[in-house]
Amino acid sequence: MKKRWNKIRRLVCLAIILSLVLPFAGPATVLPASAVTQAEIDALKSDASDLASQKKELQAQLNEVKADKNEALKQKQLLEEQIEVIRAEISNINRQISTYEELIGQKTQELEQSEAQEQEQYELFCSRVRAMEEEGETSYWAILFGSSDFSELLDNYMMIEEIIEYDNSVMEALVQLQEQVEQERAELEEAKAALEEAKAKQQAAKTELETQEAEVDKVIAEISSQESQLKAMEAELNRAAAALDSQIKDLERQMSAQINNVPSESGFLWPLAGNINVLSSLYGSRPDPITGRADNHTGIDVPASRGTPIYAAKSGVVITSVYGSGSSWSYGNYVVVSHSDGTSTLYAHMSSRAVSKGQTVKQGDVVGYVGTTGRSTGNHLHFEIRVNGSRVDPLNYFKDKTLYYRSGSQKVPLDL
Ligand SMILES: [Zn+2]
Repeated sequence: MKKRWNKIRRLVCLAIILSLVLPFAGPATVLPASAVTQAEIDALKSDASDLASQKKELQAQLNEVKADKNEALKQKQLLEEQIEVIRAEISNINRQISTYEELIGQKTQELEQSEAQEQEQYELFCSRVRAMEEEGETSYWAILFGSSDFSELLDNYMMIEEIIEYDNSVMEALVQLQEQVEQERAELEEAKAALEEAKAKQQAAKTELETQEAEVDKVIAEISSQESQLKAMEAELNRAAAALDSQIKDLERQMSAQINNVPSESGFLWPLAGNINVLSSLYGSRPDPITGRADNHTGIDVPASRGTPIYAAKSGVVITSVYGSGSSWSYGNYVVVSHSDGTSTLYAHMSSRAVSKGQTVKQGDVVGYVGTTGRSTGNHLHFEIRVNGSRVDPLNYFKDKTLYYRSGSQKVPLDL
């Protein structure tokens, strides 16, 4: 999770950068036609490719987040299934408990009935005694003391005993029944208590599962918010990329329109005065003049004294005129002219530049002056020709010119 947030933070930074870039990526028509340069277009293209890779990363993030969300949803489903099982168990227990409650109710009723019966029996006994007393001679005492002889007394006594015994046995049976019902009810209560305990346990388990589900819900909400943030960033990136693409297209259209307006000559003019014709370095592989290591030379070098004028080899539009920085630092002061036939020429190490980007130049116009700025060991012109963006040996286009190559103190004619 932490790793992802670091990534997301980076993407947020990117979005902020884009919001700074976007005003620049506004309508291209605002830019004056003369301001278009290949370097600008290349920089925008590099921005566009950065955006594309950021978008890829963002999509990978989104996929990760979606996978996490699915995982969390699965977990939630599992928990809900478990909760459902417990819910069913609890309702089963509840049904059992209510059955027991019903049975207990029945037993309670039986007890009440039996107590009522006992009461009734007791009242019957009392009323019998009272009736015997009211009848005078039939009262216990009257019966006992009203006996005419001992044998009658014994008879009467037996009769009273029998009555009492009968009453006692009825009472005893009732008490016994009550005890039995009481015991049965106690057993039912015990069973019910066991069920209540089981129910409490299940409820605790259910509560625990519900707590877990609430946590999973929180995680899902968090993931969803990450997801929508990422989606918003993706939309932002898409907007920025689209704006950048349309700006690049506009600039390219402008530039090619501008370059196409300047017809180019069929051949290249030698960029220095005709008598400055001794080369110190050829195109292609050579030992690096500074490090001595094998190096691929991207143009030709023609030594000349500082301040010597440099001429445009062909008519065209100046697409770069800068003091090189970053990877182009080694060129020092340099100018690139783009020609309508798909070629371009580059002039480097100038002491000063005579043209500015966007400017139209005619073949032979001065574009700058020889110097030794950038990665250079002495005053010379470094001259390059590109055909549709790829460097070629400039000497291919000067086969009719008499040129020499300096090797030590020797000046060797170049056989082209
Ligand atoms: Zn060079």
